[in-house]
Amino acid sequence: MRWEAQSTAQVAGPLQIPGLLRTTASPEFAGMRFHEVMAKSALNRVPARSSMPFSWTINPYRGCSHACVYCFARSTHTYLDLDSGDDFDREVVVKVNVADVVRAETRRRSWAREHVALGTNTDPYQRAEGRYRLMPGVIEALADSGTPLSVLTKGTLLRRDLPLLARAAEEVPVDLAMSIAVFDDDLQASIEPGTPTTKARLATVRAAADLGFRVSVFLMPVLPYLTDSTSQLDDALRGIADAGAHRVVYGALHLRPGAREWFLTWIRDHRPDLVGAYEGMYARSAYAPQAYHRMLARRIRPLIERHGLAGTDDEDTDSPVERGRAAGRTADRATHTGRAADSAIQPALF
Ligand code: SF4
Repeated sequence: MRWEAQSTAQVAGPLQIPGLLRTTASPEFAGMRFHEVMAKSALNRVPARSSMPFSWTINPYRGCSHACVYCFARSTHTYLDLDSGDDFDREVVVKVNVADVVRAETRRRSWAREHVALGTNTDPYQRAEGRYRLMPGVIEALADSGTPLSVLTKGTLLRRDLPLLARAAEEVPVDLAMSIAVFDDDLQASIEPGTPTTKARLATVRAAADLGFRVSVFLMPVLPYLTDSTSQLDDALRGIADAGAHRVVYGALHLRPGAREWFLTWIRDHRPDLVGAYEGMYARSAYAPQAYHRMLARRIRPLIERHGLAGTDDEDTDSPVERGRAAGRTADRATHTGRAADSAIQPALF
């Protein structure tokens, strides 16, 4: 295995994870453990009752070291008897054979080459991808089989695979989207502590645009009182437009179970002055009030137009499922490229 070349410590994992080969830790990833599993399947069918515009997803990883405080995928870690807080950030399941499984599954005569979305639940270009290099094999397997694909990520590791994605785009529709929610460096480092900087993500958008991709940027979640002033949105959209993005998708913060506890703890620790405001907004629902959505739309739409971007008001796209839905819409328009409104969909996403 790739990790054997490192001086990695073998850790006896107490977890009962299906297909578990071993659990590793490395000084390079201090505080993290990787649970390497042999997956039996890789392509996950999205339930027919879902409104997503694509039918399949692939998630090479479970858990995400990007550690976004607001991440809606957190609750999915509880299916592994792990918690939705630190464990989600630090205990990452790695499907080490995912590319082989995708190749086998897409060779089946029954495979109908429907659109496959990558990055609909956890980030396929999180830090671990730099060592495991699972995505190149997945991309090649999909492209070789004539399967359209989309990628949504916060990871600048995407840049490593841009030449490969460009070659794939000669064979199949390939759609790319970068998620960039916070344009204040201090806030970004606090609320998305494991992510690349906003500047680095914008540079990745530029690199993809220069290769001919019509890149979407997911400006979401918009955080009430933290990132939603007119000047903040204007700055964000200017940066997105200057990076060569084609389109922006925005949406207000949702706080579903798992993310809710984690995010409100962050608010109490870092912005106690906003505790009352957030508790008021999200007291009855995981969604911001409709009045807030209307206010945000009035504020941001003229700015999107002013910066020459195509824009989508997608109140629901800060969930993995719903981000995927928006990514799929981009794919529909195609060039080629947040969480379950229905929690029953979640298990299918792995
Ligand atoms: S929001 Fe995306 S990038 Fe952030 S922790 Fe969740 S899956 Fe990872």
